[in-house]
Amino acid sequence: MRYEEQIKNYFDAHWFEMMRDISRICAINSEKMPEKEGMPFGEGPYQALMEFGEMAKEKGFSYDTYGNAVGAVNLNDGERQLDILAHLDVVPAGDGWQVTEPFNVIMKDGRIYGRGTADDKGPAVVALWALKAIRDLQIPVTKNARLVVGTDEECGSGDLPYYYAKEAEAPMTFSPDAEYPVINVEKGAFRPVFRASWEKEAGLPRLVSMKGSLKFNVLPGKAFAVIETKDSLCSLDEMKAIAGKVTEKIGVQFEIAEEGSAVEAVAGSALDAAADASAKAGSAADASALRFSITAIGETSHAASPSKGNNALTGLIEFLCALPLDESLVSTAKLHALKKLFPHGDYAGKAIGAAMEDEVSGPLTLTFSMMDWNETGFWGQFDCRASVCATQENLHDVVRDNLLAEGIEMDPTELEPPHHVPGDSAFVKELLAVYEAYTGRKGECLAIGGGTYVHHLKNGVAFGCSMPGTENRMHGPDEFAVIDELIVSAKMFTQIIADLCQ
Ligand SMILES: [Zn+2]
Repeated sequence: MRYEEQIKNYFDAHWFEMMRDISRICAINSEKMPEKEGMPFGEGPYQALMEFGEMAKEKGFSYDTYGNAVGAVNLNDGERQLDILAHLDVVPAGDGWQVTEPFNVIMKDGRIYGRGTADDKGPAVVALWALKAIRDLQIPVTKNARLVVGTDEECGSGDLPYYYAKEAEAPMTFSPDAEYPVINVEKGAFRPVFRASWEKEAGLPRLVSMKGSLKFNVLPGKAFAVIETKDSLCSLDEMKAIAGKVTEKIGVQFEIAEEGSAVEAVAGSALDAAADASAKAGSAADASALRFSITAIGETSHAASPSKGNNALTGLIEFLCALPLDESLVSTAKLHALKKLFPHGDYAGKAIGAAMEDEVSGPLTLTFSMMDWNETGFWGQFDCRASVCATQENLHDVVRDNLLAEGIEMDPTELEPPHHVPGDSAFVKELLAVYEAYTGRKGECLAIGGGTYVHHLKNGVAFGCSMPGTENRMHGPDEFAVIDELIVSAKMFTQIIADLCQ
């Protein structure tokens, strides 16, 4: 490739300065903080935005800001060709750091450790150095490459509107905020809330309350329920025997305890005050009735990759449906309807009629995550990552009708469209060619469940900065980036700018 030797030599000589810049920007805690005047995402993100600007100016670039939410560094005044979109905010440091303190960056064993080194301040600095390399090496470019740095990627990308309200999308955009090679397909999102209600019932045994995950995009590793029964109808021993059989079948474990006993304190803490209050009212109504709390324990995972977990909520429903609940109750019928629509292990959405797949994005996934059940009704929510072929008609309408057939109403919901940049576009081909030339690895396009920084851009893809197989503990303690991966990223970005902006 043209200039390949110069580019390689440049970064082999300057990589340490690049690491120093990464340490400098990662020393700022830029997690989201309360909004202040002129600081839409709080003090930390603002400081990082300003410090990054200082760094750009020291290298001889001008720096534009957009509402103090986004910064931009321009390579030149030419026609805009390429945006590189990175972000300077981080997730909270959290506990468990052992190699170093989260904002005290160190280099050790070929890695650079600290919050933001991988996600995404390290890559932002790498892109800044790519602009500098083009300039220092005097590589001739006529078109502009612009480095755009946001400050709210981790909390919903509220930063991007500040930028895109003033600027049109560049002809090409890549975001070094994921992994190599290229992510060109992100599934759509469909997350309807659905609900049913009924008059308060008295029959026994009866489901009184149920809770799933606290966030729609988290596959529940635990779920909680309270049932009311009598010893003569279903005793604790009988429940435990049924639980054992369900565990054997699906792997979800169950802890069952009479309300007021020790285990109840753990399970009950996740149940809301209303359920507690109604528990007292219920036992006053029928002195011989007993309440049992049930904790289902599966394994949590991200809702976009449900097969990595074991859903405690659908496991709990499976168990509850195996109990001899009073079949004349509306609540019992609704519970069985949920089991029918969301059978345990159905991560493809077959039962609710959502299952589909296509060559570009693979199969749709569906994770039943949220549930809030009380004595007069429930609401629930699932997180579905929809294949590129999903439409209002073949997904939204089918799910709505299948819920309605069970007397469950879906709230008005938009299907958030999938994102797809053709893998054979000149832009994607260039990224893959440079990747292959500089890393010696096979370049290919990847499809993911969604949610990258470029999801809303017509011609945006994710590219870097970690190599396949590198587990950089992004969002966890001891986050790191592999130094060689950052260096080769800087070389690749420089090559790409040289090629695309010539
Ligand atoms: Zn990120």
